[in-house]
Amino acid sequence: MNWVTALARPEIVALKPYEHAAWEPRVTRLHANELPWRVTADASIAGLNRYPEPQARALIARLAAAYRVPPEALLICRGSDEAIDLLIRAFCRAGHDAVMLCPPTFGMYAVAAQIQGAEVLNVPLRADAGFALDSRALLGRCTRAVKLVFLCSPNNPTGNLLSESAILEVADALSGRAIVVVDEAYIEFSLRQSLSSQVARRPQLAVLRTLSKAHGLAGARLGTLIADPDVVALLRKVIAPYAVPQLILEAVVRLLCAQRPRTLNRRIAQVRAERTRMQQALAALPGVTAVLPSEANFLLARFKDPGTALASASAAGICVRDARGYPDLRDALRITVGTPEQNQRLLKAWA
Ligand code: PMP
Repeated sequence: MNWVTALARPEIVALKPYEHAAWEPRVTRLHANELPWRVTADASIAGLNRYPEPQARALIARLAAAYRVPPEALLICRGSDEAIDLLIRAFCRAGHDAVMLCPPTFGMYAVAAQIQGAEVLNVPLRADAGFALDSRALLGRCTRAVKLVFLCSPNNPTGNLLSESAILEVADALSGRAIVVVDEAYIEFSLRQSLSSQVARRPQLAVLRTLSKAHGLAGARLGTLIADPDVVALLRKVIAPYAVPQLILEAVVRLLCAQRPRTLNRRIAQVRAERTRMQQALAALPGVTAVLPSEANFLLARFKDPGTALASASAAGICVRDARGYPDLRDALRITVGTPEQNQRLLKAWA
């Protein structure tokens, strides 16, 4: 038994997965009960009368090259949201196992854990130290029930990166005991290198990447888990057989081929420049008491009267995120960096 099968839910290890229709484009498909004709206006390459290729090889090859990892270390999912859900479903037995989170952080980890009936152990980030990871407290509280530790870097909603050495310290201490999942949804907006290069050396590490943020493809719902091939193989048993629709597969491969690195980098630079400008402009507003430094495409600002700020943004037709529900952020709103014109309108509403 390897460490992945020892850690995973025994039912999932034993599970005989659904056998989806074999995907061979050149053979005549009389095995999947599809209609043999295309719908008249169907302009897709493969034909929408056909089921899509499960874990499509062309997209995996593209993403593996982009993220510089081997294809067998990569699972494509409907957003990183789905990867979070799959990890919890595959590793946490309801009523027995637990996940560890570091609030204030992305809300889906706790929601997915609660849906699965996994316990949530919270080890808050250190509000007094720029929301730094408290690795000592985390390791001190980590019990045998903990199967997954979620670390978000840059963290949503605070915007800061977690220390790489603290993340690796946690991963090394939990080797063979738990999977440390580093959510890098916003990493492209920072100057930090992804931890995905560490996965081969540290199989207990898993990294989440997404096309929803810097790549500008949130509507495609395409996220990636980068993990030890045994973890990927296990989750392949759990993911829906035809998870990513054919139109999305074709569109994303086409868009990724067409997207020049120069264009992507220019967009990221634009976001970073506007982030710096907004950070300063927000900090200068009389109603703002603090703006947290951010490595993501959003800023978290503290207000004297956040309720009024929310209402005046709304009156100007702008929606910002109410962060007051998070611990240590009772006066905070989260603001996505928009176009210069959108950002200007927000500043005007708050002037
Ligand atoms: N992780 C973090 C930290 C996020 O903020 C989000 C989206 N807000 C996600 C994951 C989910 O992203 P996706 O669109 O890939 O499901």
